Amino acid sequence: MPLKLFNTLGREIQVFEPFIPGKVGFYGCGPTVYNYAHIGNLRAYLTHDILVRTLRRRGFEVCHVMNITDVGHLSGDNDTGEDKMLKTAEERGKSVLEVADFYTSAFFNDMDRLNIVRPTVIPKATEHIADMIALIKRIEDAGFTYFAGGNLYFDITRFPAYGELARLGDQRAGARTDLDESKRNAGDFVLWFTKSKFENQALLWDSPWGRGYPGWHIECSAMSMKYLGEQFDIHAGGIDHIPVHHTNEIAQSETATGKHPWVKYWLHNEFLVLDKGKMSKSAGKFLTLQHLIDSGYDPLDLRYFLLGAHYRSPLQFSFQALDGAKNSRKSLMDHIRRIHSEEKPGSHSADSYLENFESALDDDLSTPRALAALWGLIRDSSSRNILDIVVSMDRVLGLNLMQNLGKSESDPEIEALVAERSAAKKAKDFAKADSIRQDLQNRGISLEDRPSGTIWRRN
Ligand code: AMP
Ligand code: ZN
Repeated sequence: MPLKLFNTLGREIQVFEPFIPGKVGFYGCGPTVYNYAHIGNLRAYLTHDILVRTLRRRGFEVCHVMNITDVGHLSGDNDTGEDKMLKTAEERGKSVLEVADFYTSAFFNDMDRLNIVRPTVIPKATEHIADMIALIKRIEDAGFTYFAGGNLYFDITRFPAYGELARLGDQRAGARTDLDESKRNAGDFVLWFTKSKFENQALLWDSPWGRGYPGWHIECSAMSMKYLGEQFDIHAGGIDHIPVHHTNEIAQSETATGKHPWVKYWLHNEFLVLDKGKMSKSAGKFLTLQHLIDSGYDPLDLRYFLLGAHYRSPLQFSFQALDGAKNSRKSLMDHIRRIHSEEKPGSHSADSYLENFESALDDDLSTPRALAALWGLIRDSSSRNILDIVVSMDRVLGLNLMQNLGKSESDPEIEALVAERSAAKKAKDFAKADSIRQDLQNRGISLEDRPSGTIWRRN
């Protein structure tokens, strides 16, 4: 069965076929580092993690890029409101870069505790201003901009496909929600600010349009294309990014390069909701992972809780539901420990569970069904031979299921070699694939090729 994903562009489930067979370029919008990530944000990054792990398990070589926004993000996505970074810096009496460093470390600490695999490339906006200026220049040269009131704007009426992702239709021009009189159309957006709304704007750069700083959307276009090329496979973020941020990213990128589609598949996760309201950092109403840890939960309780819902379903957070996840995860670990210690050899076939597990993930990353397949396996068999299958499933679930059993559940070096061999096979470089298999064999690792990917185990 092929991997199928729900593509927001077209609003349908589609078979996943990357531009280059065997290779995937994936960009997930990263955090604005002006505060701690809330557990809703972490749902977005966990969705990216499941996607990447699923693709790698299937043998794709994935380059995962995630930006760090440390300049240019206003509290309203539509060029309105205050500068998020500057506001925090002023409140704390710190510099903007000190704030960014502090919350970037805090963010990766949360990612590690949630067992989210580090992206391949993590570019910071402030280190890519020249790339953004070069991209804006291309958009200007192609005739899609105007300069007014000290800022350079993107004119959405010049790009007929504007709003296709969000299906904006007649609302393309946008509703006038801000007081920016310089905009020709309410939906136009700033590519470069020179006339800062903020007297004390901390970070400024020289540019062809004057000294200033970039609009928020341009950073994702510039950094994704720098690392993934002018067209790439998957772009992801929360559903709030569909109408403005991602819509504007497409407009900028396609007008600069003249290529369509800029991105083949768009994935958007639904929100984690708290008390029936959006969990929002800017509204100051949010829960952090540290808060849950301080309340006695393991970070993997949250991971298990989030995996229990499909990423495209809204999920209501409650401590009662988190308790349920905590108990289920404990019971799962107890079962696995018992199976491990009882030493029953057995020859129970686990293939049907593995097939269910794989087809669940292939069906638009259905983690609830994948978890159900794991539970089915654990309940129906008590023989040790299923533990290799548990290890294999955990390569995607990331629940550290074999922790403390003296059996390494993941080994990045081996997994990298297995992925390299799969990529070599896909590229028909069988000599290289065989030599990697031999190398692994020499280290006591045997491989089993399945239609959906390769499983490895220690002999
Ligand atoms: P931000 O740091 O606000 O740019 O958000 C980081 C990521 O989290 C983005 O992909 C957002 O779309 C996503 N996000 C924000 N709030 C939530 C939420 N309550 N539930 C799930 N994802 C969210
Ligand atoms: Zn983005």
